[in-house]
Amino acid sequence: MSQKVVTSNPMASLRPLLELLADGQQHSGESLGAALGISRAAVWKQLQKLEQLGLSVESEKGRGYRLPGGLDLLAADQIRAFMSRSGQALLGTLQVLDQVDSTNARVLAQMDAGEGHGLVMLAEQQTAGRGRRGRQWVSPFAGGITLSIGWEFQGGVQILEGLSLAVGVALARALERFGVPDVRLKWPNDVWCRGRKLAGVLLELSGDLTDRCGVVVGVGLNVGLAEGAGRDIDQPWIDLESVRPGVARNHLAAAMLEELLTLLSTYPNAGFAAYRDAWKGLDQFAGRQVTVHSGPRQWVGASRGVDESGALLLEIDGELQRFHGGEVSLRSGEAGE
Ligand code: ATP
Repeated sequence: MSQKVVTSNPMASLRPLLELLADGQQHSGESLGAALGISRAAVWKQLQKLEQLGLSVESEKGRGYRLPGGLDLLAADQIRAFMSRSGQALLGTLQVLDQVDSTNARVLAQMDAGEGHGLVMLAEQQTAGRGRRGRQWVSPFAGGITLSIGWEFQGGVQILEGLSLAVGVALARALERFGVPDVRLKWPNDVWCRGRKLAGVLLELSGDLTDRCGVVVGVGLNVGLAEGAGRDIDQPWIDLESVRPGVARNHLAAAMLEELLTLLSTYPNAGFAAYRDAWKGLDQFAGRQVTVHSGPRQWVGASRGVDESGALLLEIDGELQRFHGGEVSLRSGEAGE
């Protein structure tokens, strides 16, 4: 079953106001109304809607309104401009939406309809951001980069072995371009920084898994999350602003896309072998005691990196045991610690 991609943007009418307030300066209701060609009452209504998005608009009687700290809005033309020619050549359609349920769900629907190869979708806010196993990815308005890329492969799903780990390496490389310190990977593909989760990755498949198949690579990375927004995250998290402030989101998105598109276009030839050493070099838990969960079962052992397929190697009672992605989650230390 295929859904149509969202082309009409539910928040299109708010974009001009957001762009005016993005400078973080004070704007009178009158000047906003004049710039937007609407009445002051209509401006007020739109400001109310911004509050509903979780943005706190400061209003001062007689002076006007401002968004403290301003907003660094995503813009497709700026993202493209930050990309190299070779990166741009790999990019198909680039869509930047203000709000969507889930970028992965939308791109997956396009892949199912046979129209998603090279499609890149970013959103300022996801209302139903997806994580693995039906879990939620929290993505408040303009708080991070949430993006999904559709890519088609020939030769069946085995070509994609280890891809999810390689995506983690590509993200670490994008962050490295901005000098972000202490970036590590947690198997299979979470990006950690200073012992907390900075980004999550979700791969979803479409098509014929024995022949022409598609993958949607979804990434959520925290750039600046208000404390309140983090309330709904049930594990330690971190955002980029707290380790490397001032990185422009469009610039970062461009770097992430370049690394990810290069990865996808070369993966059928390169495979995980080209990424395994890099992954091991970034392994947050190398040699450490960890617990692996799968449903009600759990195993405790020393983390010994990954094999040539990207499976996690755990040393338990002197023997190496392999764990493949899917239903498995890794935690530091012993269960209950
Ligand atoms: P885990 O990270 O527990 O091993 P996972 O890899 O299955 O699980 P993901 O699919 O990457 O997790 O992401 C979903 C999980 O990430 C959520 O269950 C929540 O714990 C956490 N999470 C959700 N939103 C954020 C966020 N903005 N920043 C950091 N972590 C988040």
